[in-house]
Amino acid sequence: MYKREELILNQANVDYKKESKKVINKLLIASTFINLALTIIKYVLGKWIGNVALQADALHSSLDVLSSVIVFSAMFFSYIKSEKFPFGLYKLENIASSFVSLLIILTAFEIGYSLFEKREPVHTSVLNQIIVAIVLFFIVILMYLYSKYEKKIGTQYSSSGLVSDAEHIKSDLFSIFIIICSIIFSIFGLNIDKYVAIVIVVMILHSGFELLKNSTLALLDINVDKKTIEAIKQEISQFEHVNEITSIKGRKSGRFMLLEIIVKLDIASFEEAHKLSSQIEQRIYEKFPNVDNVIVHYEPIEKKIVKICIPQTKNEQISEDFSNSSSFLIIDYDLSRKKILNKQQKPNDFLELKEKKGIQIALYLVKEGVDIIVTTKHIENTGPYFVFKTHNKKFYVVENVQIDNLEELLKSISNKIYVKQTGEET
Ligand SMILES: [Zn+2]
Repeated sequence: MYKREELILNQANVDYKKESKKVINKLLIASTFINLALTIIKYVLGKWIGNVALQADALHSSLDVLSSVIVFSAMFFSYIKSEKFPFGLYKLENIASSFVSLLIILTAFEIGYSLFEKREPVHTSVLNQIIVAIVLFFIVILMYLYSKYEKKIGTQYSSSGLVSDAEHIKSDLFSIFIIICSIIFSIFGLNIDKYVAIVIVVMILHSGFELLKNSTLALLDINVDKKTIEAIKQEISQFEHVNEITSIKGRKSGRFMLLEIIVKLDIASFEEAHKLSSQIEQRIYEKFPNVDNVIVHYEPIEKKIVKICIPQTKNEQISEDFSNSSSFLIIDYDLSRKKILNKQQKPNDFLELKEKKGIQIALYLVKEGVDIIVTTKHIENTGPYFVFKTHNKKFYVVENVQIDNLEELLKSISNKIYVKQTGEET
C-alpha cells in the first residue's frame, strides 16, 4: 500500500530519530557526570567550611545523578519495540521518574529533619570561605553556559528531556547563588546557612512534587498540551479537502507522542481519502519529530439529502435493462427525516442512440448529481456500472422489480446508506 516517497520519508524519520537519540543521549550522559562532579565538590566544600546549606545542596545533586541514571536506563529499554509492546516501552521513563520523584520527596524531608538536630559549629577561616565562594561563583557561570547550550540543542531536536534538563540545571544555580550569599553573610559573622538550607529543602520538595505530578499525568495518558494540539490543527487545516477536524487525541509516552486524529474529508472516493490521510500523517511526522505514531482516521461528510435514481419501464416498475429504460425517476430524499422532498421523472433521451447508450445515460445521471442508483443485478460489470463506480456512486440492488411501495423502498435504502457510509464499500 506504501508509495515510494512515503517509504523514503519513513526512512528519513527513522534516521532522524537515530541521530537525535545519539545527540540527546550524549548530552544527558554529560549532565549526569557534571552532577556527579557537583555532588562531590559541594559536599567536600560544605564539610570544609561547615556550611549545611551547601551539604544539603550536595544531596540534591546526588539525587539528580540518581534520577538521570534511572531515567537513562529506562530509556535504554524504552527504545525496544516488540510484538508485545507495539507502541514501544517509552513509558518506562515515566515510571522511573515516578520512583525518583518519591525518592526526592523522602530525602528532602530527611534533610529538613536533620537541620533541626544540634551540631558542633565548624570553625573556619575567612580565607577558606572566600575561596569556596569564588569556586562556587565559577561553577555558576560554567553551569549557566552549559545549560544554555543544552537548551539550544534540546530545542533543535525538540527533545523535551534535554530542554527540561537544561531548565533544571539553570534552576539549580539559584540555590548555589543563595549559598554564595550565605557564605558572604557568614564572613561578616551572620550565620544564615541553616535558613538557606531550609529554602533549598523546600525547593527540592517542590521539584520532587512537580516530577511526581508530571510523570503520573503521563502515565494516566494525559492529552498532549493545548499548544501542540493547536499547532497540529494548523498543519492539518492547510490541506484542501479537510472539512473538519473532529478530534485530536494524544498520549505522552516518555519523550514521544502517540496521536489519533479524526478528520472529515469532502472526498467521495475511498482511494483519494486514503491517500490524503496518509499525506496528513507524513506531514505530521515531518513537522513534529517527537511524534512516534500518528493515525489519521477519515470520515466522509455525511450527506443529509441524497439524489436517488430509479430506472423505470413504461409501466413505472424498476427496469432490468438499464440502457433501455423508458424513464428515470429522480428523487431528492432527506435521509435524516426519511422524507421525499422532490420527485421528477426524466424521459430517457438516449433511447435512439446506437453506441454507448448506457455510458451516455450514466454520465448524464452523474451530471444530474445522482448519488444512488436503484437497479437490478443485471447492471453489474456493464459500461454504466463502471461509470457510476468511478464517480463513487452507490448502488442499491433490488431482487424484485416491482415497486409496491416507493416510501418503503426508499426507507430501506436510506437504512442501508448509513451502514455503507461508515464501511465505505459499495
Ligand atoms: Zn537538581
